[in-house]
Amino acid sequence: MSYRVTLIPGDGIGPEVASAAVRVLTATGIDFEWDVEPAGASALAEHGSVLPPRTLESIRRNKVGLKGPTGTPVGTGHRSVNVELRKTLDLYANLRPVATLPGVKSRYDGVDIVVVRENTESLYSGLEHVVVPGVVESIKIITEKASTRIARFAFDYSRTHGRKRVTAIHKANIMKLSDGLFLDCCRRMAVQYPEVTYDEMIVDNACMQLVLDPTRFDVLLLENLYGDIVSDLCAGFIGGLGMAPGANLGANEAVFEAVHGSAPDIAGKNMANPMALVLSAAMMLDHLEEHAAADRVRGAVRGVLAEGRKLTRDLGGSAGTTEIAEAIAARV
Ligand code: ATP
Repeated sequence: MSYRVTLIPGDGIGPEVASAAVRVLTATGIDFEWDVEPAGASALAEHGSVLPPRTLESIRRNKVGLKGPTGTPVGTGHRSVNVELRKTLDLYANLRPVATLPGVKSRYDGVDIVVVRENTESLYSGLEHVVVPGVVESIKIITEKASTRIARFAFDYSRTHGRKRVTAIHKANIMKLSDGLFLDCCRRMAVQYPEVTYDEMIVDNACMQLVLDPTRFDVLLLENLYGDIVSDLCAGFIGGLGMAPGANLGANEAVFEAVHGSAPDIAGKNMANPMALVLSAAMMLDHLEEHAAADRVRGAVRGVLAEGRKLTRDLGGSAGTTEIAEAIAARV
């Protein structure tokens, strides 16, 4: 079986980690046809847009995308590619598994958390305006529809993956209406899944509890902004951003990308850790129901880490992106 997948190399370290992921996917023996499409700051000059229509059309056609990080030109009128992509395709669920990997130096052992982040609203609706000079307003949108949908996703995910507990994270003590509505939707969904324990935690306390002992947590359910912040926090439990994969899932399309950004400080130097995108590619294989190949890719990453001979600089080694890709591919 051959799969046609949209490949967005993106900006900064994007092209380097994307070609590493393609190298590893090729090693699985599964036939992929890559539809390479532009997005990000690098697309602007040639295509006049950070998210050209052809890229969106390609994802709509193929239903599946693998995406490197994209930068957004700061201080211009351009919206973030990720925000635009997630909203336009209604990729409402952002799934970010965070699990301890062998051989990676970290303060914690036995972390196994899944972050489920609502991807389309909250403060990412882009509704900001100047009220009067010196006063700006940024509007947080929370809807019953989006909150119910993401809560259903989190509980369904927990049910199908044998997860025991969903913790909704909020600030409803301050944002009584918006976060209050989010919580109401989570509570209503929780009663339909009696086999999954449901609890709630205020976001600031949740951050402290996570840092004290992340192993106590299972599935975290968050609106957009808290999800963004807490998933970076969680990435720190397993060795940093170079290790954290992610998926953006909608009713029709799915785009797989690492949690990290375009890391301009190390771009073009063959220094980036490709594992986060490689692990995102493994999530893509699961999505395509190529579970055996997905397990082989994850096993290969674990093998390279456990051996500890070839590591990128962020993990204390000196191996290059391409060397890591080859080492993983050799074990797939
Ligand atoms: P964004 O706002 O797009 O999320 P950011 O500026 O918050 O981006 P990143 O671009 O993810 O953050 O980079 C944060 C730090 O992590 C940088 O020092 C970068 O070099 C490092 N980093 C990010 N991704 C990787 C990676 N794959 N390998 C090694 N280091 C990385």
